[in-house]
Amino acid sequence: MRRNTKDAELRERAAQVIPGGMYGHMSTAMLPEGYPQFFAKAEGTRITDVDGNVYIDFMCAYGPNLLGYRHPQVTAAVERQQALSDTVTGPGEPMVQLAEALVGMVSHADWAMFCKNGGDATTMALMIARARQGKRKVLVAHKAYHGAVPWNTPRPGGVLPEDRAHLIYYDYNDPQALEDAAKQAGDDLAGIFAAPFRHDTFADQELPDAEYARAARAVADRHDALLIVDDVRAGLRLARDCSWETLGVRPDLSAWGKVLGNGQPISALLGNDRAREAAQKIFVTGSFWYSAVPMAAAVETLRIVRETDYLEHLQRIGTLFRDGLHAQGRAVGLGVKSTGPATMPMVLFDEDPDFRLGYAFCQAALDRGVYLSPYHNMFINAAMTEDDIRLTLEATGAALEHVKKNRASIEPPAALAKMAALVAEH
Ligand code: PMP
Repeated sequence: MRRNTKDAELRERAAQVIPGGMYGHMSTAMLPEGYPQFFAKAEGTRITDVDGNVYIDFMCAYGPNLLGYRHPQVTAAVERQQALSDTVTGPGEPMVQLAEALVGMVSHADWAMFCKNGGDATTMALMIARARQGKRKVLVAHKAYHGAVPWNTPRPGGVLPEDRAHLIYYDYNDPQALEDAAKQAGDDLAGIFAAPFRHDTFADQELPDAEYARAARAVADRHDALLIVDDVRAGLRLARDCSWETLGVRPDLSAWGKVLGNGQPISALLGNDRAREAAQKIFVTGSFWYSAVPMAAAVETLRIVRETDYLEHLQRIGTLFRDGLHAQGRAVGLGVKSTGPATMPMVLFDEDPDFRLGYAFCQAALDRGVYLSPYHNMFINAAMTEDDIRLTLEATGAALEHVKKNRASIEPPAALAKMAALVAEH
């Protein structure tokens, strides 16, 4: 049995001094039962909870861990910059180096601005789209996540209808829905948001049709609006460029975060010259937006991205995991399916409308030292080895056997009912 004494104690203390004990995607309502809440250490592919249990981590901090936790070269770059400056009265040279690196790598980009979270970058994109010509309407795919900001957060608390008054929702991957939404916006269309692929929670992932991506570009051009790709989650796991470059479609703006500094707090908005003047019209800033350490970490992360085969490695390792899991599912007769890119797998079960099989599977894998998510896409990192996948598949094989054997007595996940009650439909 895994120990959880320290975790339980921290949860109790947290409940006294943190509303609800925790918030956001780490809240207890969202964690599958038995999952640890608090962690003490992370190295490479492994996370260690406060009770000393070690897991192979397939969540990668919900994305940021691209190259492995405490990657030696990124850590060395952090330490070098820390010895000089971090948060001071103005930015350092790494800011310009980082902007140059991104403009050099990302085909559509002529400029970069930096911030801290993905939601900062997507909100800046929204503001720039509107600031450009004073138009108001912005198209957003149903259920797409672009950040915990009033215009997009999935729960209704503290959000006014006015915060979303000028958003028009369309169905991802449906060119006609996009056309209809644009028609509704008429001559007031400022921008169109699109995720690189459909990566909503609790749903199979869907790669974009090139026709849809081209339609998004064409609608934006026809309306003289900006096309915005939200690469916060998928950035650098599909391409060493904007993810839609793989489809031959270039946005005007792309939002980045998560992986940029391999875990250091930094995000970015990249844009082309169509959007440059509008980018100068908005006032955006923050006390930590000029900090040099995360920028130095990002400069080093991007160097590794350019100079190594990390991406091909992610694809190879991700494919091993996906193929192994599918074979195991077939062998035990359970319809387990991994959808989306191999580097960002979403694992759900057929005939599992209330997700009880998926939750039970992940809980059984956790007991065997593998940290998976039953409702969110997962992430492969470049420190993962074939040996890690072998160990992972040993755990998932046993977890699938467990699900099969106990299927009749598996209850629907309690956490899910709590969560469903909180989620607002858009
Ligand atoms: N966009 C996407 C696609 C995301 O996945 C996320 C975060 N999961 C965000 C935006 C918001 O990023 P952050 O949590 O860093 O604000």
